[in-house]
Amino acid sequence: MPSIYEIFGTDAHEMTKALMEGAQIIKQIPAGASVALKPNLVVAASPESGATTHAGVLSGAIEYLRDHGVTDISIIEGSWVGDNTGRAFRAAGYDEVSKHYNVPLYDLKHDQTRRVKSPLRPMDICCRALDAGYLINLPVLKGHCQTVMTCALKNCKGCIPDKEKRRFHAEGLMEPIAALAATLKPDLTIVDSICGDLNFEEGGNPVPTGRMLLGNDPVQIDAYGCRLMGLDLDQVPYIGLAEGWGAGTTRIEAGDIIQLNQPTAAASYPAPSGKVASLTRNVQAKSACSACYASLVRALYNSRPSREPIAIGQGWKGVTFDGLGVGACCNCASRQVPGCPPTAETILEYLNR
Ligand code: SF4
Repeated sequence: MPSIYEIFGTDAHEMTKALMEGAQIIKQIPAGASVALKPNLVVAASPESGATTHAGVLSGAIEYLRDHGVTDISIIEGSWVGDNTGRAFRAAGYDEVSKHYNVPLYDLKHDQTRRVKSPLRPMDICCRALDAGYLINLPVLKGHCQTVMTCALKNCKGCIPDKEKRRFHAEGLMEPIAALAATLKPDLTIVDSICGDLNFEEGGNPVPTGRMLLGNDPVQIDAYGCRLMGLDLDQVPYIGLAEGWGAGTTRIEAGDIIQLNQPTAAASYPAPSGKVASLTRNVQAKSACSACYASLVRALYNSRPSREPIAIGQGWKGVTFDGLGVGACCNCASRQVPGCPPTAETILEYLNR
């Protein structure tokens, strides 16, 4: 019977240890298994920005595992196309955790990959994620400018090479995200929901929501994340698709949520403000990469209002467009921002011309 453990507070280190103790996670880990910790470091940004997993989640998990005799522990992650994972490790304080506990950090952008069967198509996945004896997924619950929300299922996307990430976007994200999660099947998910940005995966407007979650079923975790954010499951199609492919259940029965303490004053969940949806109302996206679309959103946050139509994404290659085209793919737009991906600063320059 799947269930979700929930704890309230703001101390990621202590909350992580308490969740793992409460759920007696050590009983699930095979003796001698290599344990891989997979945080969310989509960009080089401090966890306080609401974009990345707090370093305390890693240190708490490492201490819990060590206290219970687990010695083979690593941290694995590959940030999105266009960012540098090493820079992201430093920005989030993971290099200090790595040094302090003598646990290696592996940049999955440099990892070997293996082509494996998935419910959608054969998929290239990084070997360190595939071969972990026990894979612990450590996402942030937050908003996403293309998929509305991101948590357990989508965090698996850090375990594929950049080429595969680009292909995911060309395929519209939803099906490949679901197929990857159904294939990789993380053994455990611990969610950092201390201060996620409820609108934008790159952070910048963190909302204190003061809690963390733990569960073995990433589909159920994401369904609960939707409930917390006030979203219908239909708004995040990859969750239902993942359920259909056997990655877990969206059902949350009475008694499935086990609270380890009482909610604090900070543990409310305001609904996403809809700011990103409003900023992007003139945007016509076709298979846009995350880094490209996020640069556009960042630029729109700072640009003066405009009604000019904006095209972005791989689906615009070779297609004429009367308006502003963002990135190398929009080579047939009447005005084009160069770059792959272009920076937010460059896009802003064009938006304000
Ligand atoms: S220009 Fe095209 S390929 Fe390059 S990041 Fe943007 S959408 Fe992706």
